[in-house]
Amino acid sequence: MAAHEQFADDLTLYAIGSLPVSEAGQLEQHLDQCGDCRRELEEMRGDVALLALSASGPAPPTRSRERLLSAMKKEPRRQRMLIYHARPWWAVAPVVASLALAIFGLFLWRENRNLREQEAEMQQKQQSLVTELAQTQHDSEQAREMLYMLTSPEVQKVSLSTAKSTPQPVGKAMYLRNKGHLLFMASNLAPLPNSKTYQLWLIPMRGGAPMPAGTFMPDERGGAMVMNPPIPPGTEAKAFAVTVEESPGSEKPTMPMVLMGNTT
Ligand SMILES: [Zn+2]
Repeated sequence: MAAHEQFADDLTLYAIGSLPVSEAGQLEQHLDQCGDCRRELEEMRGDVALLALSASGPAPPTRSRERLLSAMKKEPRRQRMLIYHARPWWAVAPVVASLALAIFGLFLWRENRNLREQEAEMQQKQQSLVTELAQTQHDSEQAREMLYMLTSPEVQKVSLSTAKSTPQPVGKAMYLRNKGHLLFMASNLAPLPNSKTYQLWLIPMRGGAPMPAGTFMPDERGGAMVMNPPIPPGTEAKAFAVTVEESPGSEKPTMPMVLMGNTT
């Protein structure tokens, strides 16, 4: 069997579709008999195809075949053996590798229309992914900012009312039924002894028992917040209410209700 290295240059050119037909016959005969060279060819083609998808730039240099071959011939024979049969040759010879890879890419870039179409398609997909990602980032930034406004102690929270009235406890519930998401905020709440706690309740639409929806203690200025207590998605709410319970909370609300609000 003819030695592999005799076909090394040819194999490279064959992989990128640049071996003249007159010389290809002998190589193909060798490929029929030599699994090593077939595998090498498969690997080269795989890498070349990937490379072509990412290649861009000016037209390929003239005499690229000659430059590729002469660059390879400068490598000592033993190293070339290694290059072609031990592992991917561009891993061992960076200079040759970068030159040759550039040429591979540009050859295919010019010659394979199908690959160019794939490239355009991939770019389009990439673009729409980028747009989607930007939108997601924008949304989550807004959400983060909102959450910061609602939760940060740095943020000044001011309740406005008529000038003379004593501030009364007020609460606001925001409820997204299909997800069971609930955000509740209250202000002007009276302080409680440590043995007690405020508790939020969801009063279901169809006459079910009030569902516990989180306990909370007001801060020193009477403000409080409950975020996403465990509520089964889809629960229809008729009203929300707040009671005072023994700490750490109760299964049933104890009258009277401190705050109460209907959903409609
Ligand atoms: Zn071989």
